[in-house]
Amino acid sequence: LTTFLIVTSFLSTVTYLGAPVHGGVLTSYDVSSLDIMSKIHTDHDATTEASSDFGHIVHATPNGVFRPTFPADIAALIRLSLSQPTPFTVAPRGKGHSSRGQAFAPGGIVVDMSALGDHRIAVLVDGMYVDAGGEQLWIDVLHAALKHDLTPRVWTDYLRITVGGTLSNAGIGGQVFRHGPQISNVHELDVVTGMGEMITCSPEVNPALFFAVLGGLGQFGVITRARIRLEPAPKKVKWVRIAYSDVHSFTTDQELLISKRASGSGFDYVEGQVQLNRTLTEGRRSSSFFSTTDLARLTRLAIDTGSVAIYYIEGAMYYDDNTADSVDQKLDALLEELSFVRGFVFVRDASYVEFLDRVGREEQNLRSAGAWDVPHPWLNLFVPRSRILDFDAAVFKGILRHANPVGLILMYPMNKDMWDDRMTAVTPDEDVFYAVGLLRSAVAGGGGGDVEQLERENAAVLELCDLAGGGIGCRQYLPHHASRDGWRRHFGAKWGRVADLKARYDPRAILSPGQGIFPPPP
Ligand code: FAD
Repeated sequence: LTTFLIVTSFLSTVTYLGAPVHGGVLTSYDVSSLDIMSKIHTDHDATTEASSDFGHIVHATPNGVFRPTFPADIAALIRLSLSQPTPFTVAPRGKGHSSRGQAFAPGGIVVDMSALGDHRIAVLVDGMYVDAGGEQLWIDVLHAALKHDLTPRVWTDYLRITVGGTLSNAGIGGQVFRHGPQISNVHELDVVTGMGEMITCSPEVNPALFFAVLGGLGQFGVITRARIRLEPAPKKVKWVRIAYSDVHSFTTDQELLISKRASGSGFDYVEGQVQLNRTLTEGRRSSSFFSTTDLARLTRLAIDTGSVAIYYIEGAMYYDDNTADSVDQKLDALLEELSFVRGFVFVRDASYVEFLDRVGREEQNLRSAGAWDVPHPWLNLFVPRSRILDFDAAVFKGILRHANPVGLILMYPMNKDMWDDRMTAVTPDEDVFYAVGLLRSAVAGGGGGDVEQLERENAAVLELCDLAGGGIGCRQYLPHHASRDGWRRHFGAKWGRVADLKARYDPRAILSPGQGIFPPPP
């Protein structure tokens, strides 16, 4: 056992003295006595699991893993830490789907949020919201809401990640152009701060904490409940991909599509992908969307046009029984306005769940191929619209020209005015910016290059992006910076506010040390 466990063993039953504050339907904090120590697990299996994440690039071992029964247990753990001469660090871990140890607590305690249970989701039909525990998976939130024919409006591509984990970043996907990121769709939060206080916050009540925590990279508090906005759920989806051999038409059409956010004539979801030639010629022969024949046609297109890359827009048009008769007509009219390569339109009919859970199916395929638990040196960027063509030329036709990305490259635009600048998340200073995800895997024997090679390419891309060095001025999403200076530049004008909020809500810097923003207690 670690020193702090010995020193504090008399505290094995901690009394929670602070007045419990709660606003949600889930919470019942009438817990006067909490057995904290028995919930800290120091066995090899527990600490080993918490030492690794989806990235499989970095590893760091905590002293223990805390399995809370109630949110108040987390408050008690934090108070226990603060009662030590040198507080120990505390990192909430959702599903550990970060890439670079963001949910690690080297030498501290990782909070296994899933221990809070799988029952903490309540849909309020009259209020059109769902109260979900921070530990809940989005796939479970979806199924709970659908029981009432309701749904959250904005989705990440993958749903087996947690509410607290995505809200600590932003939560982006193809619906963001219409509704903003997931953090723009939250009414209220329950948060345990780095002072061990349990606080309910919203834009009206404790707004400073509310805005700090959204996109706050786990620095100001642990989200134990989020009240998320709902809307009526569609039943079905026209799931569409249209191909382009030139980046100019691709981005022009994407920007046209996101400008239609207020009109009923556009897509409900807009994303896009870049397929480099070698991915098409040497990559997989089919995918969960494209058949073998489709991929052969796309490869032919790349060869015939001499393009280094093929781009495609992925769109989705929602419909239900009332609109089933008119959806094809609406889709045809929309496609008429676009400049994709004629004939290269691929349409699937899918149920709403099937569409949203598409990466879940991909996960199954990759797991069976042994290609899921592999290193993922992912790099996600927000690129200003004014520089996206420069980025394309320098990265896809330059740095990655001969690379073989095993994985995905995403590229799609969003509207800045759907982001609330009071939140901690940062975006470029332009009305429209692109999310670009270099989501590559280092698969042994897959010809995709080893981690070191992918990291070298990532470093070259980041150098190109560095505005201070005269570069493109991208911002990292799901950021990772090795130095304090890197973080200062990342937050830019928000840095002062971030530092002040840290001093207010987590003055000993014990929370989410794996982000590496503030030095943990010595
Ligand atoms: P973790 O990795 O466990 O934690 C992430 C950070 O948040 C850590 O610093 C942790 O300490 C902190 N944290 C965790 N829980 C809480 C909490 N309750 N309160 C406060 N802080 C907390 N992201 C998108 O936006 N869009 C996508 O389309 C998308 N697709 C993805 C697809 C895949 C296959 C994967 C693996 C990830 C994807 N992500 C996407 C990234 C995902 O949003 C992040 O990995 C995010 O961190 C959620 O993962 P998690 O719940 O496992 O959090």
